Amino acid sequence: MYSVTNPATGELVEEIPNATDEQVEAAVGRVHRGYGSWRRRPVAERAAVVLRAAELFAERADELAAIMTLEMGKRINEGRGEVGVVVDIFTYYGERGPALLADEPLAIKGGEAVLTREPLGALLGVMPWNFPCYQVARFVAPNLVLGNTILLKHASICPRSAKAIEEILHEAGVPEDVYVNTYASSRQVPGILADPRVQGVSLTGSEQAGVAVAADAGRNLKRCVLELGGSDPLIVLDTADMDETVKATATARMRNCGQSCNAPKRIIVLDEIYDEFVSGFTKRVAEYYVAGDPADPATTLPPLASIAAAEEVAAQVRTAVGQGATLRTGGKRLGPGAYLEATVLTDVTPGMDAYREEIFGPVALIFRAGSEDEAVAIANDSPFGLGASVFGTEAARLRRVAGRIESGMVYLNRAGGSQADLPFGGIKRSGMGRELGTLGIEEFMNRKSIRL
Ligand code: NAP
Repeated sequence: MYSVTNPATGELVEEIPNATDEQVEAAVGRVHRGYGSWRRRPVAERAAVVLRAAELFAERADELAAIMTLEMGKRINEGRGEVGVVVDIFTYYGERGPALLADEPLAIKGGEAVLTREPLGALLGVMPWNFPCYQVARFVAPNLVLGNTILLKHASICPRSAKAIEEILHEAGVPEDVYVNTYASSRQVPGILADPRVQGVSLTGSEQAGVAVAADAGRNLKRCVLELGGSDPLIVLDTADMDETVKATATARMRNCGQSCNAPKRIIVLDEIYDEFVSGFTKRVAEYYVAGDPADPATTLPPLASIAAAEEVAAQVRTAVGQGATLRTGGKRLGPGAYLEATVLTDVTPGMDAYREEIFGPVALIFRAGSEDEAVAIANDSPFGLGASVFGTEAARLRRVAGRIESGMVYLNRAGGSQADLPFGGIKRSGMGRELGTLGIEEFMNRKSIRL
């Protein structure tokens, strides 16, 4: 069942039954048929449609933000910001896409060849609720320009975002059989991947969903991109302005109520400044983040996406404290909605669950490191490898530490975030493949070599 439940109040707003197997089968047929003509359209035409979609997303930013606030409790201003990134992504691929798909002449031994860049066919997208518009955009925009078609299964708590995105794309000129939203359940995903008319899958979601989808993709020899969880480290080496560093790191951790894959979930601070950092960070978190209505632009701490999510994160905090972590502030569930106080934990050690798990909510873990080497060792001692951040005052030292971190992305003196022209993705249990930038258009591409 797909349903809309307002996480700020717990009120059930709408329920939508799952698609039947026949409806899913028909949807696969549509995107398969749509591929035949879409791939033959000149790339400039496909790019123009994608650029038109960018305009429509911009026009409907307020409406989309309100939907996200209702469905998953995103702060209204963050919702508008998210749609801004969506507009950037559609604009980037609409403008740059045709050049990224140009044929490449190859000088080879004994002659010449050319490398062409062609689409693969119909793809499945399986998307999460935490950035309902952005996650879809980074999969869809490059693949539409490339000439692939898309069947989209969104998270079951954001059917309205899913429908609005489909409407916008169709209104922009994406043919109805080129982008199809389905209210399939996750149990129907294996059947879709077994269908020979589907050529690949992109999943953004949890590690568990990634394991399931990767196994189905493997069994059926389908290409797959996995953008999974993370427990990104943020190392603070030193600082010229403690207040600024505290504010930047707290903002990054608490963005989207702590429900960002690449939020700095583990903050690692060198010994010399650890005590000052912890007291400043705890004060900032305790005073600034106050629970409120996510539709009110003044709110600083919205609810989590669901009561179940809030309960789960609260339980992770309780377990950590039970295992010996120090609760510096927060930790309490607030009701009736899906609220959890903004929380800071210290003294988390390798034997504790919190040391290895992703905590997908407004909870910061702060670690003490005796040296740069130890900070890097803690950063890398994680099953995940999505992003990382390093804060400090010496450029050469920042670059050196960046080079030692096992992750797909490193941000220097900034934390998290995402932009259209910067490749995004992880290693280890954070997934495989890249989205955005010049790499994001290559994942579901047939790089065909033609020997002349
Ligand atoms: P989730 O429970 O894994 O759900 C994501 C999507 O996968 C939903 O559409 C879900 O459908 C579907 N799904 C779940 N289990 C499945 C299965 N066994 N087979 C096929 N599909 C399945 O994740 P979430 O709770 O929505 O999102 C939070 C997670 O996503 C966090 O771990 C976060 O770090 C990660 N994430 C990663 C990135 C990145 O770029 N690396 C970005 C954002 C989020 P239903 O809703 O119907 O269950």
